[in-house]
Amino acid sequence: MSQISQLARSIAASPTFALNEEARLLRERGEAVINLSIGEPKNKAPIAAILSSAARISGGDVKYTPPDGTPSLKKAIIRYTEENYDRVVAPENVIISAGAKQSLFNILYSILNPQDEVIVLAPYWVSYPEMIKMCYGVPVIVRPEDGTFHPRMADIERAASSYTRAIIVNSPNNPSGEVFSNEFIAEIVEFCEKKHIYLIMDDIYHKLIFDGRKWTPAYQFTNKSVEESMIIVVNGVAKLYGMTGFRVGWAIANRKLVTVMTNVQAQTTSCTSIVLQAAAEGALTGMQSIVENLRLTFENNRNVIMQELHSFNGVRCIKPGGTFYCLPDFRAYSDDSVKLAQTILKKALVVTVPGKEFGMEGHLRLSFAGGIKDVTTAIERIKWVLDPTSPNEIFIGDRKLLRDWL
Ligand code: PLP
Repeated sequence: MSQISQLARSIAASPTFALNEEARLLRERGEAVINLSIGEPKNKAPIAAILSSAARISGGDVKYTPPDGTPSLKKAIIRYTEENYDRVVAPENVIISAGAKQSLFNILYSILNPQDEVIVLAPYWVSYPEMIKMCYGVPVIVRPEDGTFHPRMADIERAASSYTRAIIVNSPNNPSGEVFSNEFIAEIVEFCEKKHIYLIMDDIYHKLIFDGRKWTPAYQFTNKSVEESMIIVVNGVAKLYGMTGFRVGWAIANRKLVTVMTNVQAQTTSCTSIVLQAAAEGALTGMQSIVENLRLTFENNRNVIMQELHSFNGVRCIKPGGTFYCLPDFRAYSDDSVKLAQTILKKALVVTVPGKEFGMEGHLRLSFAGGIKDVTTAIERIKWVLDPTSPNEIFIGDRKLLRDWL
C-alpha cells in the first residue's frame, strides 16, 4: 500500500518552479540560457524594506507575532486599502500570511466543504485548481470561447450551480496580462452578491497596468460594507515591490471568515515571520516610486515584446494590458504546448511555460520581467527554431548554429 495519500499524490508539481530550476541548472553548466518563465521582477528589494527587517534582526527580538499579523503591518495594510481601494477596514478584517499564495489557500480551506465548486477563469494561474483540489473542492473551469482572454458573464452564469461557493478573479491576469473591464467586474460583483457566492479578487498585480488605464477595485461596485459583501481581497508585496522572496501577502474579508482563517493559520504556520512582516511594512510605508518605476519598465518591455512578436509569422498575441506576461498563440506551429516548450528549450535554450498549465493549450507564456536584451534575443531564437522564413544561422552563446530541420 502506498504511504502517500491519494489526494497528495494527485497534486501536480508547480511547473513554473520546475522550469526555473531547469534554467538554473543549465546556467550552472555554462549554457547561454534565457529564462522567459520568470514570475518576478528583477529589482533589488526596496531599501525601506531592507532597513526595517534588518533593524528587527539586529535588535534580536525575533519572536512569534499574533497569528493574523503584527498590529503595525495591519495598520499599514489598512492605510493601503484606504488609499488604493477607497475602503476603511478594521484590523479584524485583515489577515497577513506567508505570501498571497498562503492567503488564497487559507481562504479556500476556510470556505470549502468537500465537493463544493469554485469557478476558475481560464487562462488561470496554475495554482488555483491544485489549491481547490487540496481543499477537497472541485475547480470548474470557464473558458472564453470567443478567442479572447476576457471572461464573459453568460459563461460564468451557465457554469454556476448550487455547489458554487466562490469565483476567483485575477485582473491584471497571470498568464495573459488581460485587464478585465469595469463592466465585467461590476456584473460579477452583482452576481456574487445576489447568489451569495464569495468573489475572491486576486489583486496581486493591481498596479502593474499600462496605457494610462486605471485599475478599479471591486469594492467600487458594491455599496455593501466589508462585513456584508461577498468580496474577499487578496494582495501582497511580491509583484509590486519585487519582494517575492519575502513571502508576505494578506487577505481582507468579513470578520467571521478572518477569525476562522486566523485559527487555521494559528494551527499551521503560527504566523508569518516577524522579520518579513517588518520588511513588508517598510515597503508599504516607504517611498512608493519603486512601484511606478517597475510599472514603467514593464510597459516598455511589453512594447518591445509585442513589436518582436508582430514580426513573427503565424504567431498571434493579444496585447497585455498589465503584469509582465503575455500569452501568444503558437497553434500555427503546434497544438502541443508542452512539446513546443521542450523543443524551444532544447534547440534554442529559451525557457517558456506551456499554455497547457494555464488551461490554454497551443499557447506559451512569456515573461517580460527580465531585460529587453533577453526578450529580443529570446524571440529571435524562438523564430529561428520555428519560422522557416527567419535566417537559418544563429549564435547561441559563442556557438554558431545552423538550422537543418525546417
Ligand atoms: N496570485 C497570482 C496570480 C500570482 O501570479 C502569484 C505568483 O506568481 C501569486 C498569487 C502568489 O503571490 P505570493 O508570492 O505573494 O505568494
